[in-house]
Amino acid sequence: MSTAEPRAERAAAARVSAARLAAEGVDGVIVGWVDNAGVTRVKTVPVHGLESAARWGVGAAPCFDAFLVDDSLAPGGGPVGDLRLVPDLAGLHRLAAQPGWAWAPGDRYAQDGTPHPGCQRLFARRAADALAARGLTVLAGIEVEWIVEGGEDGTGFEGGPAYGMRRLIGHGDYLRDLLRALHAQELTVLQLHPEYTEGQFELSVAPAGPVEAADTALLVRHTVQAVSLRHGLRASFAPVTDPEGVGNGGHLHLSLWRDGRNLGHGGDGPHGLTREAESFLAGVLAELPALLALGAPSVASYLRLAPGRWSGPYRCWGRENREAALRLITGSAPEQANAEVKCFDAAANPYLAVGGVLAAGLAGLDRGLRLPPETTGDPDGTAERLPASLGAATAALRGSAVLGAALGEQLLGSVLGVREAEAARFAGRTAAEVVDAVRYRY
Ligand code: GLU
Ligand code: MG
Repeated sequence: MSTAEPRAERAAAARVSAARLAAEGVDGVIVGWVDNAGVTRVKTVPVHGLESAARWGVGAAPCFDAFLVDDSLAPGGGPVGDLRLVPDLAGLHRLAAQPGWAWAPGDRYAQDGTPHPGCQRLFARRAADALAARGLTVLAGIEVEWIVEGGEDGTGFEGGPAYGMRRLIGHGDYLRDLLRALHAQELTVLQLHPEYTEGQFELSVAPAGPVEAADTALLVRHTVQAVSLRHGLRASFAPVTDPEGVGNGGHLHLSLWRDGRNLGHGGDGPHGLTREAESFLAGVLAELPALLALGAPSVASYLRLAPGRWSGPYRCWGRENREAALRLITGSAPEQANAEVKCFDAAANPYLAVGGVLAAGLAGLDRGLRLPPETTGDPDGTAERLPASLGAATAALRGSAVLGAALGEQLLGSVLGVREAEAARFAGRTAAEVVDAVRYRY
């Protein structure tokens, strides 16, 4: 059941869902969306209000399209107007870590029921549909990295080594509760581990359709935050929490499929890519500077995108190359072949990031692009650096005909407006001030 179904059908489905949720002890339903600055915002309704919300949507001011990370507004964010935030019941989940609550991602429509051209989730849906019209599907997954702060001191496990067993022991109960909550929400966790820097963890989930993968990333982040709170911890998904240290990525994995076959293997292209998969990835590589404005949207993103941190700051590709922005993963089994866009972080609105990558890949397909030579070693000194500031990435987006056409005038305009206003707002601030401003916003 998508939000594009007729009102009456949405309402009928919501009536059934609401009765089930109420019987399961749910009192409130959160309808969430992500703004152009990457901040997840919510409206909620009591569970008996879900039917009306599905039929008519929940009121949301259009000025949210102009919100910046610090809740100030870019020019153009006026007080007038109304949009309807419609819960997508296909993404409805009871929240295991926040008892009594359920969550559904929302799509935004005008009062007359026409899609809001500035809706980021509908943009991602359109991009997926454009591929589907060519018989192609994408499986995607967004890795979630975060850093926890707080908790009890004096356990003797602070400051444990990167990927260290001591770190796992120190946070064992916390991580177990996280696994339990995700399992209860029917999310399939692939892997969970202590990451490089102190208090940092990473979690990956099974791949899904592009819009669903973005939904899942939000649900994972919600769950991490709620479980962290129960353990006296605060989770930060900010691109960096220490300007000198390793940051939090939001790497996007994706594979291209036709007729149930992964196009990332068994072909004539590099490392067995089919020509279609090669063109798709070449399209992504071609648009990467502009895509950064969608996938690395914060001034803080560029504190993370530095060499030597495996954040993918170079515009190149390479098999299992963790410094390349585009890492090719051939895997052991053919169906595991996928590509990882490493330069993205969790400040990104995942719908903009995913939709942008699909649109860039589709343009690569349409043009029959080929990949440039592979970068096989450390790209330092040999490969082009990606834009090193939000301003430079935003300029690249402004100049991208491919992304401009895919986003459409209104969504492109509001994204550019937010990026430019955020770049101006943080101009002249120190790295530490930037980090403090975004640490607990995403
Ligand atoms: N934390 C690194 C980043 O900022 C990624 C480390 C890795 O998983 O390769 O993207
Ligand atoms: Mg990682």
